[in-house]
Amino acid sequence: MIRVNEVKLSLDEDISLLKEKIAKKIKIHPKEIISYKIFRESIDARRNNISFVYSVDVELKNEEKVLRKNKQVKESPKLSYEDVIEGNEKLIHRPVIIGTGPAGMFAGLILAQRGYRPILLERGQDVDTRSKDVENFWKMGKLNLESNVQFGEGGAGTFSDGKLTTRIKDIRCRKVLNEFVNFGAPEEILYAQKPHIGTDILKIVVKNMRKAIEDLGGEVHFGSKVTDFCIENGKIKALEVNKNTKIEATEVILAIGHSARDTYEVLHEKGIQIRQKPFSIGVRIEHPQKIINKSQYKQFAEHPRLGAADYRLTYQSKNQRAIYTFCMCPGGVVVAAASEENMVVTNGMSEYARNKENANSALLVQVNTEDFGDDHPLAGVRFQRKWESLAFKLGGNNYFAPAQLVGDFLKDRPSKELGSVKPSYLPGVKLTRLKECLPDFVVETMKEGLIEMDKKLKGFAMKDAVMIGVETRSSAPIRIERDQNTMESVNVKGLYPIGEGAGYAGGIISAAVDGIKAGERIIKKYMPLL
Ligand code: FAD
Repeated sequence: MIRVNEVKLSLDEDISLLKEKIAKKIKIHPKEIISYKIFRESIDARRNNISFVYSVDVELKNEEKVLRKNKQVKESPKLSYEDVIEGNEKLIHRPVIIGTGPAGMFAGLILAQRGYRPILLERGQDVDTRSKDVENFWKMGKLNLESNVQFGEGGAGTFSDGKLTTRIKDIRCRKVLNEFVNFGAPEEILYAQKPHIGTDILKIVVKNMRKAIEDLGGEVHFGSKVTDFCIENGKIKALEVNKNTKIEATEVILAIGHSARDTYEVLHEKGIQIRQKPFSIGVRIEHPQKIINKSQYKQFAEHPRLGAADYRLTYQSKNQRAIYTFCMCPGGVVVAAASEENMVVTNGMSEYARNKENANSALLVQVNTEDFGDDHPLAGVRFQRKWESLAFKLGGNNYFAPAQLVGDFLKDRPSKELGSVKPSYLPGVKLTRLKECLPDFVVETMKEGLIEMDKKLKGFAMKDAVMIGVETRSSAPIRIERDQNTMESVNVKGLYPIGEGAGYAGGIISAAVDGIKAGERIIKKYMPLL
């Protein structure tokens, strides 16, 4: 196979022309092409024109000749994931994984695939029960503390846009995407520049993954919260589940996500080494999707092949704070993502079609550990809780979120009525003044950032855009220290802190990759179970 880059199709040219274009690019007859596979499809929207640009892996009758003649063409790199070699130590107990987010699920999958029959413990519910619980919260304002947007099968990202982009470069990313396709995601995620699958498809994928783990001899237990860790002589010995059951375990993958604050407290009490970590807080901002399409695609906006446009904006403020948009959801909705009583937390999600009226994104300002005002390892959690509970009060003590129009926010006056943008957040929003639930430095940075970002994306600071507070869970406020090589906690052997909650991932793909790596550590050390 050879890799041919920069093959272009205009917006109105059909994909069926690709073969002809490849042949033209490498100066051969189309008949010499045996087969081809798109490796990457991206959109080039520069210079007042929009085209699709492809990298393609092509099988030819005479590859040697083309490689010799055309210096820009190279052999396709090998992308397949190589299984690690099993170790020869004997496992005393089945490996246990705490949490079924992407980190825990992928650790579970790889261990199950290799014959280690893992046991997965999840405090939340299976995805169908969880969907009903989440719906109940969004429609009725009744929060289930163990089954919500943060907790349950599939983890925090199940109710999400399902963006599968990452900045990490790791061959395992490909394995993750391939598994997603095996379990029901569309093939296009293998080549799209910015792949996404949406909440509707994610729910199917996580359910199929769980079934595969079970079919391979693994077990998945919902409603099973790990409430204590039994540690002896610096080694994990057992876990307590729901305060009433003990499970003996010597290899435990800890994939609890960033919202398991009660579990963080238990880990801290048990002396597991944790340190503070910077993160970001801010709001969700909602615009009409049409405005974003127009700004990004100009006269081509609403072209059927383009779909809903996205954006990513960053700015360094005069006070040296980074402000940026994060987890942008084209054609999506803002969601209530609290997991504790009397707190308001926002986030965003979309379906695969991304066809809702509004676009939303987090607008976040960097928070440093000095801002926590305390050197306790969990001071970042207290900091998050402070703003989440202020937002709850400001929203009217009923899980409505406080909201303000951008025009009013910039003029420092409370919002009294909505303009042209109808906020999508459920159970609802209360118009107010957001500065009462955000630190001063965040408010100042946002005022400056909104104006600057509007210069890059016209309409970003439109006066009717709605800001909904508060977004506090973009990443973990702690890091659970682990050994770089073994991935075990630095002071508890057999405990592998992984994923977003332990401070080693930020997003679905990087969490999943961390999960695979942890699974590999166990495989390399031990023999499979019979
Ligand atoms: P989590 O997914 O948080 O999973 C942790 C799991 O552990 C949870 O299911 C929890 O119930 C369980 N657990 C916690 N404590 C215990 C315990 N004591 N016992 C048993 N189980 C426990 N990322 C993207 O890349 N793309 C997106 O589009 C995207 N959108 C998002 C939208 C929303 C609304 C949210 C909330 C997040 C989004 N993210 C997105 C972030 C992404 O979901 C996370 O980065 C990712 O899920 C982290 O994976 P994880 O496995 O480390 O942790």
